Amino acid sequence: MGLYADLVITGGRVVTVNPRDEVAEAVAVWGGRIAAVGAARDLAGLIGPRTEVLRLRGETVLPGFIDPHNHFMLYGLWLDGVNCKSPLNRTVDDILGRVREKAASTPSGSWIVGFGVEDSGLEERRFPTRDELDRAAPGHPVYLKHRSGHAAVANSLALDAAGITDQTPQPPGGHMDRDATGRLTGVLREKSAAAPIEKILPVPTRDRMKEGVITAGRLYASAGITSVHDAGAEARPDTYRAYHEAVAEGRLHQRVYAMIWGWPGNHLYLEKDLGLRTGFGDERLRLGAVKLFVDGSIQVFTCAFYDPYITLDTDSTRANPRGVLQLTPNELNDLVVEAHAKGFQVALHAQGDYGIDVALDAIQYAMWKAPRPDPRHRIEHCQCVTPEGLRRMRRLGVIGSFYPHHSWYWADRHISTFIGEERASRMNPMKSAMRAGVVTVAHSDAPIAAIGDPVFGAEPLFGIWCAVNRTTRAGKVIGPEERITPMEGIRAFTINAAYASFEERLKGSIEPGKLADLIVLDRDPCAVDPWEIRDVQVLRTIIGGRTVFAR
Ligand SMILES: [Zn+2]
Repeated sequence: MGLYADLVITGGRVVTVNPRDEVAEAVAVWGGRIAAVGAARDLAGLIGPRTEVLRLRGETVLPGFIDPHNHFMLYGLWLDGVNCKSPLNRTVDDILGRVREKAASTPSGSWIVGFGVEDSGLEERRFPTRDELDRAAPGHPVYLKHRSGHAAVANSLALDAAGITDQTPQPPGGHMDRDATGRLTGVLREKSAAAPIEKILPVPTRDRMKEGVITAGRLYASAGITSVHDAGAEARPDTYRAYHEAVAEGRLHQRVYAMIWGWPGNHLYLEKDLGLRTGFGDERLRLGAVKLFVDGSIQVFTCAFYDPYITLDTDSTRANPRGVLQLTPNELNDLVVEAHAKGFQVALHAQGDYGIDVALDAIQYAMWKAPRPDPRHRIEHCQCVTPEGLRRMRRLGVIGSFYPHHSWYWADRHISTFIGEERASRMNPMKSAMRAGVVTVAHSDAPIAAIGDPVFGAEPLFGIWCAVNRTTRAGKVIGPEERITPMEGIRAFTINAAYASFEERLKGSIEPGKLADLIVLDRDPCAVDPWEIRDVQVLRTIIGGRTVFAR
């Protein structure tokens, strides 16, 4: 290193998140990396005439947050659509009003797409129907996605365009809701049901995708997020190119680990077999895991459980009382073996207790069939994993990627509507996962499910608050024995998340040689009352030694 540092942050409480959980006073940065960490007086000699010095008055410095599962690109793209989320929309009519408004400014015949419908959050506790959407936008195909991303509602023009009729058979792994007369209501659950429409939706241009990630980047920087794992990068060449251009133009600062959307017939990188594998790229942009879906979302009754849902009075729950598997176990095994054998990390979306067991079976089979060291496969969301499931994860080295916001946002409805109190109290068992020796990470999944909660949905400090307090929106503490400490929450969003992308030697803690991804907070989340963690402010976000956000 040169004689002097590029940047010295001093006078702070530097929570290093190193293996000994040490706290220092100062950190010096050179060439985008951390050069030294220690006492203020020991680093004073690194301050030269051109060194930028950030003098703190006891504020807290943490490693930058890593959000290991979110939909970074979708975040920017969704801002274009009709905002259907609640509580912004309290009734079905509120949503129809927005659709009507959009129709007035959209050329006739063009698609109207919306995001965030939350049937159980509306006064009527149902989706808008196709007929209501037909009346709101008679000249437009309309397609509104559920807040979970695992269901949608379409109007008649959209169903017609996709060739879906009342006679269309139920697709495997999904469900098309019908009324008592057998007529489609427009509600489509899971990918196999929605695929005919998803296939014909207008594709965003590369420029639009690029602007999307740049917009998302600004918001994420304000929440202290310096790295993201995009769990929904589509298997289109343009997705990676859009990311690459945004990075190359210096307009996207976050480091991106972009997962491949490994849907059958849509896993381009595997099928073309370019020889690339997880980790290809550099510290700015890497090819991530292959993402596959095992089950669905509790909020639309599609996660796979051993026991039935508690509400069974709709045609979809009567048909699938224990949820759905999106692929048969054999189909899943084949895909996991293929990706694993080619050198990919596999990230399996699995949330119900049965869905998670099916996912672990596939991982175990792949590792048995094609042994390779340290594949670090992941269960995404892992919401209702059993104690035995956690033991298997430990033995297989599988990472548990949890979504702590759910115990705040959805838990009351888990109790009343979906799975009942006993199962709900065991949701997101992060403490048990840690005790079992499972590498435990936490994520936002934004904007899926979380958009707008509490501000834009990806705030790691809010995620930590959720995991530490496990308090529902109604104020009930759910499964108190699964509460974790603030430090465990920080680790889940830093060093453990770095491990989940094979980058724990590169980032995730404040140690010499690591990337200078740092954040400054007004208070130490480990020192405040646990209830105040959500009020801790991000004052500054630094990526590679450069400030990308300052309050
Ligand atoms: Zn997701």
